[in-house]
Amino acid sequence: MGVMEEGFALLPDAEDAVDVERMNEVLAEVSVRMRDNYPYQHPLYAGQMLKPPHPVSKAAYMLSLWLNPNNHALDGGKASSQMENEAVADLARMLGYERHLGHLTGGGTMANMEALWVSNRLRPGMRVLASDQAHYTHSRLCEVLGVRFTAVRSDGRCRMDLDALKEELTKGDVGTVVATLGTTGTGSLDPLPEILALAREHGFRVHVDAAYGGYFKLVEGLDRCARGVFDVIAEADSIVIDPHKHGMQPYGCGCILFKDPSVGRFYQHDSPYTYFTSDELHLGEISLECSRAGAGAVALWATQRMFPLDCSGDFAKNLERCHLAARSLYSRLEGDERFRIIMAPDLDIVVWAPKARSITETSLLSEKLFETAERHGLFVAKFRMSSLKMRSHWPDLVIDDDYVTLLRSCLMKPEHLAWMDDIWNRLSMSMDDAHHQ
Ligand SMILES: *Cc1c(COP(=O)(O)O)cnc(C)c1O
Repeated sequence: MGVMEEGFALLPDAEDAVDVERMNEVLAEVSVRMRDNYPYQHPLYAGQMLKPPHPVSKAAYMLSLWLNPNNHALDGGKASSQMENEAVADLARMLGYERHLGHLTGGGTMANMEALWVSNRLRPGMRVLASDQAHYTHSRLCEVLGVRFTAVRSDGRCRMDLDALKEELTKGDVGTVVATLGTTGTGSLDPLPEILALAREHGFRVHVDAAYGGYFKLVEGLDRCARGVFDVIAEADSIVIDPHKHGMQPYGCGCILFKDPSVGRFYQHDSPYTYFTSDELHLGEISLECSRAGAGAVALWATQRMFPLDCSGDFAKNLERCHLAARSLYSRLEGDERFRIIMAPDLDIVVWAPKARSITETSLLSEKLFETAERHGLFVAKFRMSSLKMRSHWPDLVIDDDYVTLLRSCLMKPEHLAWMDDIWNRLSMSMDDAHHQ
């Protein structure tokens, strides 16, 4: 009997019989269906923002499913709620919050929704701004919340343009500015130190969406500008970080953190049945969602136990490998006549294009390269960007379309660094093929 089951040994046996034979038949079907996927787990998958959960995380998740706790309140998940509090406190500490209020969410979207909701309670009737490179869900969430949203122009490196931001601020109705640390498209970092300085002057709230990039706080080897951004992250009013992006967790694990714990007052409700075992403000009282997977909290807790969130540990070293892999791919592309690079990677996403005379030819070649790469066993992603951004980097390019299709690689697995020669060889062969089609 397992250690966990022993904790419940006083109860009479109540296990139901399972039709194992039928179950295995169904699982065999599942296995076949699941083959229709890209190979997300493999280092030659260098496309979308996907990172495999660590074995310890998967094992802890499955282990806790024997009980299937629900972290909606202490009654539903006693131990896993405590583990959630500890894991979230570690995340808050990593980001530099001395005090915090926070919890896990179903993902970054839900976490951002809580941040924008609280912001709107504190700055009612005022606008929310985010850059035109911010995650697409911010404008949608604002619509759900009934808050006016404005996208702020980004510069040639896909960072929020400060002049455009200042222009919006002159209108006097900005309640919140979302700074994205690590845009989903290109991994660009908005200029947080300057945004915080403007917040001190104008009184708006600053929400940091670091769903993808937050863990890079631990990486010392970023360039000076990127370091400067992460150094001041704790001055933001709220932060979102997704353990299911870079934190090696299965999906269903985002996190919202508030700098001022007193915002917990906005979550108050008087459900007659949910909570009766505790006097403290607990997770069910500070979350917009009700049911949440206790297993996700257990998995995160176990992962952080094995990989403590410190600058000198293996977790930080692995993140640095991702950044180095991105720099390595970038410098290879830069040194090769067949490609055009757009911007050096702030974190671990690289965006590039095959060299062509015009925007339409570039897009066409990108599409071809996407396909030829797959035939060479290399999986990349596509990215659409305003053609004007290309012009600032490549003035000779003929602009004959508003948008250009580029290629994009999220190098989120530490193994990408060791595999970079292989990745490059395949990319190189694929480019030759794309030209000859
Ligand atoms: C992924 C991402 C989101 C959305 O998070 P989900 O976990 O997919 O809901 C929000 N913002 C940024 C910057 C992201 O990268």
